[in-house]
Amino acid sequence: MAAPEHAESPEPAATGHAEPAATEPIAWTGPTEPAVAGHAGRPSPSLFADVVGQADAVAALSVAAQRPLHAYLLVGAPGAGADLLARGFAAALLCPDGGCGSCSTCHRVLAGTHPDLVEVERAGAALATGEARAVVVAAQRRPLEARRQVIVVPDVHLAPGVVPVLLKTVEEPPPSTVVVLTAETVSPELVTLASRCARVTLRAVDEDAIVAWLVDAGVDRALAADAAGASAGSPGRARLLAADPTLVARRALWRSVPDRLDGTGATAATVAAELVAATDESVAVLAERHRQQSEELAARAEAMGERAGAARKALEDRQRREQRRWRTDEVRAGLAVLAAAHRDRVVSATAGARRAVVAMELVEHSARSLVRNPNERLLLQGLLLRLGAPDPLTVAGHARAPSPVG
Ligand SMILES: [Zn+2]
Repeated sequence: MAAPEHAESPEPAATGHAEPAATEPIAWTGPTEPAVAGHAGRPSPSLFADVVGQADAVAALSVAAQRPLHAYLLVGAPGAGADLLARGFAAALLCPDGGCGSCSTCHRVLAGTHPDLVEVERAGAALATGEARAVVVAAQRRPLEARRQVIVVPDVHLAPGVVPVLLKTVEEPPPSTVVVLTAETVSPELVTLASRCARVTLRAVDEDAIVAWLVDAGVDRALAADAAGASAGSPGRARLLAADPTLVARRALWRSVPDRLDGTGATAATVAAELVAATDESVAVLAERHRQQSEELAARAEAMGERAGAARKALEDRQRREQRRWRTDEVRAGLAVLAAAHRDRVVSATAGARRAVVAMELVEHSARSLVRNPNERLLLQGLLLRLGAPDPLTVAGHARAPSPVG
């Protein structure tokens, strides 16, 4: 046989512009064939207005929305925007006009208050078996308003144990149900489940993209850099931080910590209390946005003569979770500033280099502990006591020390 000039390459060409660019990020591993592009009713880009740096994924989902398959898996790092993509996609699937971006359906889906958008929320660190069973039951339900319903199950990588429970539903949901799973990675345990879905891979959003996005929106460049640095890679968080007049002072407070510690418990407690107070303050900007969301929900419900009870409850639950996550991200961003302050000392003073390295390890250890240790004040107090001590590794504190560097 001659050289296969027209053979299809499984890999997209490295030099730009392969023809169906929009479908590239999808690995069609499921039994069905890909959706086709081309007819009218393409979703409005406004559905994905808050998604940053994911043009390929947006294009793929916009095409897919016109002829959706039964299940999708969005794979990407935390903060990459899988939740926002899932909502925009759901709006396109539920809107009577294919995602116009301006009707009541679109608004409610984007706000997370449409009854045919089921965003599964877990009570614990990962989806429990009982919660997975509830997903199976919900999938069988008929849509309440729209022609279909969308069930979003986030972070399936955290719960490989429930894969057998979900498998049948993801494989073959009722025709009026579309399942959207999100995961940070596809581990071996997830491969079977993933193979039943059309996969959309998200890019990691780098700080530069977030800075550029904020600057485009009119944010001062220095402030944009600060906000992006504290955003944990989440554009949404960065945007709120950029609107926060106390951001710069908060970062300065964290940066000042090493100079203030004197090894006493009293100082550690005082500084920890200040950091917790600053964290409380940081939630204000999010709380303000939540207040607006609640008002919008009430106004819409009134205008449409809808009952807002269940929607209000769902919104409040979500807002509570968002505030909790916000606090964790805030303390983690603060700890990153603190680690950087210690890192700077490694560079400037060789004598204290080992000590600074140990300090950075302690800070990183605390950042990791944040997830399972909800008492920020005790966590910070224990950390600061160690950081201020003559030898941080010998202090019997609240936080367990990592093994010393060799
Ligand atoms: Zn619409």
